[in-house]
Amino acid sequence: MSFQPGQPIPYGRQHITSEDVQAVTETLYSDYLTQGPKVAEFEAKFATYIGARYAVAVSNGTAALHLCALALGVQPGQRVITTPITFSASANCVRYCGGEVYFADIDLGTGLLDLHAVRRLLESHPKGYFQGLIPVDFAGLAINLEAARLLADEFGLWIIEDACHAPGGFFTDSTGKVQRCGNGAFADLAIFSFHPVKHIATGEGGMITTNNPALYEHLLRLRTHGITKDPIQMERHDGGWYMEMQELGYNYRMPDMLCALGISQLTRAEEGLARRHMLATRYDAAFASVLAVQPLAGAAGHAYHLYVIKVPDRKGLYDFLRDRHVFAQVHYIPVHTMPYYQSLGWQTGDFPLAEEYYAHCLSIPLYPSLTDAEQDYVIESIKEYVNK
Ligand SMILES: *Cc1c(COP(=O)(O)O)cnc(C)c1O
Repeated sequence: MSFQPGQPIPYGRQHITSEDVQAVTETLYSDYLTQGPKVAEFEAKFATYIGARYAVAVSNGTAALHLCALALGVQPGQRVITTPITFSASANCVRYCGGEVYFADIDLGTGLLDLHAVRRLLESHPKGYFQGLIPVDFAGLAINLEAARLLADEFGLWIIEDACHAPGGFFTDSTGKVQRCGNGAFADLAIFSFHPVKHIATGEGGMITTNNPALYEHLLRLRTHGITKDPIQMERHDGGWYMEMQELGYNYRMPDMLCALGISQLTRAEEGLARRHMLATRYDAAFASVLAVQPLAGAAGHAYHLYVIKVPDRKGLYDFLRDRHVFAQVHYIPVHTMPYYQSLGWQTGDFPLAEEYYAHCLSIPLYPSLTDAEQDYVIESIKEYVNK
C-alpha cells in the first residue's frame, strides 16, 4: 500500500514481524510465563551483541537505572552528575535512593553532556564531593566514555552509561579500537530500554550490562527481592526449600514471554540500524542546502535513535507538521526546568546551552519501517514550512 498524505507518521515506532508473534506465542504455551529459560537466553545474546561480559534483564529502563544506583551504593548525602538533556529517569534514579542530582551543561553541536563543563563542576568543589556520573548516549551518539573514565578516575566517581538510545552505537577510542555503547570497557554499568520507540521493542523491558562480576551478582539479587538461592552465598541451610533474603530488593524481573520477543527482535537489530543510517543519510542530504534546518552532528557509530534538527521557529514547525499528521516530538524538556527539580532548587537559566538547545530542537520521524515515500513527505513538509 502506497503512502497517502494525511496518514499519521509518528517520530518513532516499533516493528513487529510474524516471527516475533510466533516467539511470544510459543512461550505462552510453555511452562514459564516469567522466570523461564528465555530470560537467560536473552541476557546471553544481548551481552554478546553489546560486547559486555554480563547482562541482567529487568522490567524497564527506569528499573535498570534504579538497580544500578542501588548497586553502586547511592544513598542520602551522595551527589551524582548527569545531563539536563535526557529523559528524567536518568536523574530520578539518584532521587529514588535519596541522593542529590547535579547537572552540567551540554555541547550544543552534539546535544551530549559536555565533559569540560563536568570538569569545571568537579573542580569547583573539594575532591570527594561527588560520587557518580550518569552520561547519556543522547539520540544514539556515543559519548566519549574513555574521556569520561579518565575524569571519573581523577575525581573518584563511578559511571552509569545511559545507553537507552544507543544499542549498536560505538565510538573509536584513543588507540583506534571500536568501543560499543554499553560494552563495560569504561563505565561500571550501562542500561538499555525496550520501550516501543527504542531499537529493540518488548513493550516494557530493560537491560543492565557490565563487566564487573560483583556488581552482576548483586544486581541479580536486587532484581528479585534481595533473595538468593545460591548455597554458597547463604548464611543458613535449613533444607531444600530454603532461600535467603539478604537485603531489601525489588521485583524488577522481565517476563519470559517478553524476553522471547526481545530475542526475536535482537536478530534484526543490525538490519534496523542499517535502515536508520540510510534514513539519516537521506535527511542529511535533503537538509544540506536548507540554511534554516540544522541537524545535530552525525557520526559513523551513531545509533540514530533520534534524528534531531534545530530550527528557528520550532513551535511553528511542530504545529505545522501536526496539522499534516506528522507527529514530531521534542527531546527533551531540560530536566532541571521540571517543576519537581525546581522544587529542589534548580532554576531556569542554570544551564543556558541546554535551554538554548531545547528552544529549537525537534525530533523528526525516524524508525526502520518508515518508507522513503513517508520520509519524502516529511522532508517536503519541513521545506515548505521553512521556505514560507
Ligand atoms: C527510554 C529511556 C529511559 C527509560 O526507559 P523505560 O524503559 O521507559 O523506563 C531512560 N533513559 C533514556 C535516555 C531513555 O530514552
